[in-house]
Amino acid sequence: MNLLIMGPAGAGKGTMSDLILKSHDIPHISTGDMLRENVRNNTELGMQAKSYMDAGRLVPDDVINAMVAKRLQEPDCAKGYLLDGYPRTLVQARAFDELAAGIGKPVECVIALDVPFDVLAERITGRRICPKCGAIYHVKNHPSRVEGICDVCGSALVQRKDDTLEQLKVRMEEYDSSTAPVIAYYETKGVVTHINGAQASDQVFAEIEAALAKLA
Ligand code: AMP
Repeated sequence: MNLLIMGPAGAGKGTMSDLILKSHDIPHISTGDMLRENVRNNTELGMQAKSYMDAGRLVPDDVINAMVAKRLQEPDCAKGYLLDGYPRTLVQARAFDELAAGIGKPVECVIALDVPFDVLAERITGRRICPKCGAIYHVKNHPSRVEGICDVCGSALVQRKDDTLEQLKVRMEEYDSSTAPVIAYYETKGVVTHINGAQASDQVFAEIEAALAKLA
């Protein structure tokens, strides 16, 4: 199964991806997670990307395209992929379509999570993540059992540097100008399913599963 999950910051891409993986045997490839890992490990790629990420700006297309092309060559992608946060610009989408066609894995479904700004703002500013295992919490909607500590691995939770209202506004501008046209591009190919991502997460997931069932 060859899937993209798209939506602005805080739309629930990470949470929904975790649920999708429980029932579909494909790797979750989040370009944001890959970049953050590179920043943590001080790689050359991480050093190139850090200033863009901290500012809420997009990392240059050629850097991202090369990173994804390399990742898709790994054996776990033989059954397909769930790409999260990529492609985010039309340049990336065109490069990716060429790559995906070349390896016989064209995009079958784009799940577009639609969420209004005030809901995103509430989710983003309350989001806390585990830097070690990647578990995602929310101070009000999904708190950890012990405040500030990951339920899964016991690490201290952190707030992402870009999870502020100010950065969210910048990320939304990037989304509207660069990423919304990507959804429109895939719409012309007839592969987009829009889902109301402001609903309760089990309802969002049920609608995603219904869309994926149609592909099988
Ligand atoms: P995310 O975790 O998907 O919100 O991504 C965090 C940050 O990583 C973004 O604000 C960008 O700076 C960078 N990033 C992630 N994916 C991409 C992409 N496909 N193109 C450009 N920059 C990206």
